[in-house]
Amino acid sequence: MVSPSANTRHFTLPIILVLVVSLLCLAWQFINKKKLININAISLTIGMLWAWHIYIKVSVMPIKDLNFLIIALLAILFIGSISFINNIQAFIASCLPATVMILWLDQGANWPRVLYSIVLPGIGITIQHIIQQRNDNFTRRLMDKLLEEKETLNDLSMLDPLTGLYNRRGFRNRLDTILALGNGKHYVLLLDIDHFKAYNDNYGHSMGDQALTHVSAVIRDAVRSRDVVTRYGGEEFMVLLTDIDAERALQTAERIRQRVYDLKIPHMFTEDVATNVTVSIGIAPLEQQDIEDALLKADSALYRAKRQGRNSILASEMHLAT
Ligand code: GH3
Ligand code: MG
Ligand code: MG
Repeated sequence: MVSPSANTRHFTLPIILVLVVSLLCLAWQFINKKKLININAISLTIGMLWAWHIYIKVSVMPIKDLNFLIIALLAILFIGSISFINNIQAFIASCLPATVMILWLDQGANWPRVLYSIVLPGIGITIQHIIQQRNDNFTRRLMDKLLEEKETLNDLSMLDPLTGLYNRRGFRNRLDTILALGNGKHYVLLLDIDHFKAYNDNYGHSMGDQALTHVSAVIRDAVRSRDVVTRYGGEEFMVLLTDIDAERALQTAERIRQRVYDLKIPHMFTEDVATNVTVSIGIAPLEQQDIEDALLKADSALYRAKRQGRNSILASEMHLAT
């Protein structure tokens, strides 16, 4: 493209412009990573520059050289196909100006050869384009299906995978059913394992997970089947004691606290204080079906239980009055 013709400089103005435009595009894309260049416009511009270059070369030849035209055409098609293998529009935009220019310069004298040189790679690119589109469509459909199934699974998952207790979604679901039945008084317990961060730090995360599983099982066993036990957060649990009075709710909380202690999971949370894994518990009544309010009260009771020294139970003030 650059050298094989006499009487002209190797590098014409359009060739230099092709280099400049390409480098500018590269730099622009490097700086603006998020804004994509309009590739069709750029490929058309470069295609026109190539056509101009061919025109300059041919116009200074004493006799028109068919070999140069064919070499130029193949070179343009080659560059176009490796640059725009996945973009048929950009491929056409980059090759069309030079092709038209060559057909015009040749004045139709060798049109079968020129046409053959165009059609063959054109067919190759079109087939590749069709296959690519089919693959893209297939991948897109697969992705849509996977996302859809992930949504469905998320909706279905009501249980916490580590402990097998309800997760928050599962709790909401059970709560709706319980509230719809509408009978009796309910109590909310919020439980939090004491100094659990230190437990993880001392014994490792996987031992921490084991301790969580044991504590979960103890809580589950300490309540009735109609009560709802939820893993509320990392090392926090929530129990909804249904259709129960204040005294029994307190007794249940005490039973849970004692049984967790009785697990005797060793916990040396500082150098000089060795103890077992324990829980602190806050209790609040569920009033007017307002679960958020009950949780707030249970949480502040739990906070006070923690401040009192942990391994203890505290009820919200309203609860004590009942
Ligand atoms: P406090 O007595 O005041 O509750 O202190 P704490 O250390 O228990 O409370 P904090 O909220 O500081 O730390 C909770 C820790 O629980 C932090 C985290 O490493 C641990 N934890 C939360 N979820 C998991 C879990 O799924 N597995 C394990 N192994 N640890 C967890
Ligand atoms: Mg906590
Ligand atoms: Mg804790």
